[in-house]
Amino acid sequence: MQPSRLGFEKREIILVLGILLLMIGMISFMAPLYAAAIAIALYFGIRVFVGRRKRQIQNEMGGGVCATCGGKIVNNKCSNCNLT
Ligand SMILES: [Zn+2]
Repeated sequence: MQPSRLGFEKREIILVLGILLLMIGMISFMAPLYAAAIAIALYFGIRVFVGRRKRQIQNEMGGGVCATCGGKIVNNKCSNCNLT
């Protein structure tokens, strides 16, 4: 298994645990059905946000590395020495 995939899964567990704790907290002052609905909506909202962010990072990494210094290429420019 790839390390990056493992890291993503660990983050997923933390996300689910965090939302579960939030839901338990919300149940104390609202109906469990509403708390569960908010928790589920929040979970999918974060999933969409993380997915979009991941794609954005992949796009940034897609440029490759600089031939001069080996820095990351962002928007066709080196993030280190600004050479194309
Ligand atoms: Zn460079």
